[in-house]
Amino acid sequence: ATLSPDDILGLDSVFEEDDLEFASIVKKWLDENVRDKIGDYFLDATIPARELAEGLGELGLLGMHLDGYGCGGSTATQYGLACRELEAVDSGLRSLVSVQGSLAMFAIHHFGSEAQKEEWLPKMAAGKAIGCFGLTEPDVGSDPSGMKTTAKKDGSDWILNGAKMWITNSPVSDVMVVWAKTEETDSKGKPVVRGFVVPSDTEGVQTPEIHRKISLRASITGEIVLDNVRLPEDAMLPEAKGLKGPLSCLSEARYGIVFGVTGAARDALQSALDYTGTRIQFDRPLSSFQISQQKLAKAFGQYSQITLLAAHLGKLKDSENGVRPEQISLGKMVNVDTAMNVCRDLRALFGGSGITSEYPPLRHAVNLETVLTYEGTHEVHQLTLGRSLTGINAFAN
Ligand code: FAD
Repeated sequence: ATLSPDDILGLDSVFEEDDLEFASIVKKWLDENVRDKIGDYFLDATIPARELAEGLGELGLLGMHLDGYGCGGSTATQYGLACRELEAVDSGLRSLVSVQGSLAMFAIHHFGSEAQKEEWLPKMAAGKAIGCFGLTEPDVGSDPSGMKTTAKKDGSDWILNGAKMWITNSPVSDVMVVWAKTEETDSKGKPVVRGFVVPSDTEGVQTPEIHRKISLRASITGEIVLDNVRLPEDAMLPEAKGLKGPLSCLSEARYGIVFGVTGAARDALQSALDYTGTRIQFDRPLSSFQISQQKLAKAFGQYSQITLLAAHLGKLKDSENGVRPEQISLGKMVNVDTAMNVCRDLRALFGGSGITSEYPPLRHAVNLETVLTYEGTHEVHQLTLGRSLTGINAFAN
């Protein structure tokens, strides 16, 4: 008799029954609406973001871990399990939900005025408005303190100028959360960073798409070009002052990644079990060879470890004390790297078929190259943990 990886792991004793039931509802919806098409979306380098957002909104996945304003108010663990199912289909799909819920909606929910929340959150939760989050710039990635985008006062209005790069969903967005340096200075004389809620159809905004990606192709990525964009005074997020604002949003989104990538690894493992069980060479199924079983067992061990780490961080996040940023860094660093190695190693079991879009491991592996880089690169999380372990900041002078 064969057991599924989750049965061997005893997943039903790791998560609550209700949470697993919710995950299976999400999986069923994805099976019915997306799974068969994802290989083509990837090859065509697109995703029907608008159509999918409405379905995902109806399912209650957009901003599901936020309270009020049409959001689901779920636990962090439930949200994590939803991310896991989404990324078991494709990291691009999970990115759509992460950017909407954990970056754009979280920023408005956490730092916005009552009017901003009421205007945007219900539409975004329903998937009727798509949000994006602009922090990275052409010259500024890992060190956002060097950002060049500015927000200057003109009477009571704000005027934004600058450019944002690598912004998930910007070409299909209705609203953007844009971070910019103001003329206000902090105690060290440095300009204070503020967030702005910018409707995408504001005059002076352009969102050209970035083409020729080899990774995360089933996701729409673009720039945000801001040319003398005039915004009313109340476009600023009142409660976010300094880089703490955008960084706390990133910590939220990273948490979803910690869970999400376990889905990619699970999908690669399940498809490798299915394939090697039916593909015959030398008159035997591939799964009967010792080297195949070694690969499968190794991948299962790695999958089990990252799933347990995600579950642990979910428990911490749901606990009274919450989860600390360095704990999230640990999860992102370990889980993304491990999931990528699982997907790469399993790819080989598919032989030539493994390099097509017919089977998911290689698609997951190349997607995870993006996941390794965004939301703080692998190296930045290593340095974050290095700082926690040694007390020495190796990032900068
Ligand atoms: P750099 O910061 O230039 O880093 C290049 C290399 O140098 C990396 O390996 C890095 O780890 C290393 N490095 C940098 N500093 C150090 C150091 N001090 N010590 C050691 N090594 C270092 N951004 C958004 O704001 N919103 C989005 O929605 C978004 N979506 C994205 C979607 C995709 C498909 C991609 C690829 C990126 C997205 N990003 C987004 C941007 C992403 O967050 C950045 O690419 C990332 O932060 C890295 O910045 P960078 O590309 O400028 O690389």
